[in-house]
Amino acid sequence: MRAGPINGPALLLRAEFHAVSCKIPTFTGKGSVSTNYMQKRHKIGILGATGMVGQRFIQLLENHPWFEVAWLAASDRSSGKRYGDAARWKLDTQLPDRIANMPVSPAEPAGAPKIIFAALDADIAREMEPKFAEAGCAVVSNSSAFRMHPDVPLVIPEVNAEHLHLIEEQEWRKKSGGYIVTNPNCSAIGLVLALRPLEGRFGIESIFVTTMQAVSGAGYPGVASLDILGNVVPYIKNEEEKMEEETLKLLGRFEGHAVKPLAAKMSAHCNRVAVEDGHTESVSIKLRTPATKDQILAAWKEFTPLAGRDLPMAPAQPVEWVDAPDRPQPRLDRMRGNGMASTVGRLRPCGLLDWKFTVLSHNTIRGAAGAALLNAELLLALGKLEPTLNPALAGTRA
Ligand code: NAP
Repeated sequence: MRAGPINGPALLLRAEFHAVSCKIPTFTGKGSVSTNYMQKRHKIGILGATGMVGQRFIQLLENHPWFEVAWLAASDRSSGKRYGDAARWKLDTQLPDRIANMPVSPAEPAGAPKIIFAALDADIAREMEPKFAEAGCAVVSNSSAFRMHPDVPLVIPEVNAEHLHLIEEQEWRKKSGGYIVTNPNCSAIGLVLALRPLEGRFGIESIFVTTMQAVSGAGYPGVASLDILGNVVPYIKNEEEKMEEETLKLLGRFEGHAVKPLAAKMSAHCNRVAVEDGHTESVSIKLRTPATKDQILAAWKEFTPLAGRDLPMAPAQPVEWVDAPDRPQPRLDRMRGNGMASTVGRLRPCGLLDWKFTVLSHNTIRGAAGAALLNAELLLALGKLEPTLNPALAGTRA
């Protein structure tokens, strides 16, 4: 059962779901959230701060208008060191001096801020994220550990913001105000952004997808160079299962207290390729009602569900069409929308299903740290990030 009343903005979220473009609520009028959240920077912590995704968080949070990095944690190998000594910085921007000089803390809730971005391997996340949620933290996670848990929202703000209602089902939320929210697998996210406008207008019956996934998706040091240079590895452990189940949960409906997955057939083939950043996917789909090429292009172009919300990470055009026969390509197109857009191209009839096309998205920005940041921005705008205390418990705890 739900722990307490859902607040005003959350209710608004539900009302507009499954409108053609999956609109996000209006924050004006009775029951709206104040915009005070924009006027101070909220202290956040990063769990797994030294890894590939942790580094992206640091990069994207430098100069973020709403969030300030106040705490960094990683494994015992790094704890107690200066961040600059513990992390092997791999990004093409300078590690900020302030961050380089911060200590790496033990990965424990004591002393951590109440907003935590988590970038831990699934096995570690499974054990560690609940400890933070139990301690009253909003855990905005990248890991697969809880994505398919029935009470944990798996969210892309443009796609299924109303799934955030699941937070109120979590035992941690009821006891301490803390909760876990997740973003999807790095391949599922680009695909689902492209599918959502088509599902909204035409319905989707079947999805067939083959991925070509960048090496940075395996973390650092990731795949051995001798395994990947001049090569393709046609296996990524658990990836096909994750893509299939997460896609259907993301495109599912929030009904009462649970998400009902989309009733579509799906098959994914996942491959690791010698690309640094950017996952490319070849997609075929069967629609429930026929659509022309122009109608599909219009559905993508008109898909702007976060327009006017002023969420700093939100791209103006979440699905960008590139009209060239040999695009999108990772090197040329992964930074569209500051790395937050899903780029689509090569839309053409499919001999097996109805239509086929190519999708590309940046795996450590839109597929990981940027996705979690956008989730946190939406939660903050909805008044669910800070204070993280469940309104039903307000006044019962200092
Ligand atoms: P990574 O480069 O291997 O980094 C792992 C991080 O976890 C490091 O900071 C590491 O710290 C820390 N860690 C390891 N053991 C720990 C422990 N016992 N306690 C606390 N911290 C510990 O991995 P990544 O690529 O950043 O991925 C992180 C998560 O995001 C994974 O669940 C991954 O599946 C997911 N993800 C990754 C991508 C991507 O494109 N890379 C995309 C979407 C989702 P040390 O440096 O001290 O070892």
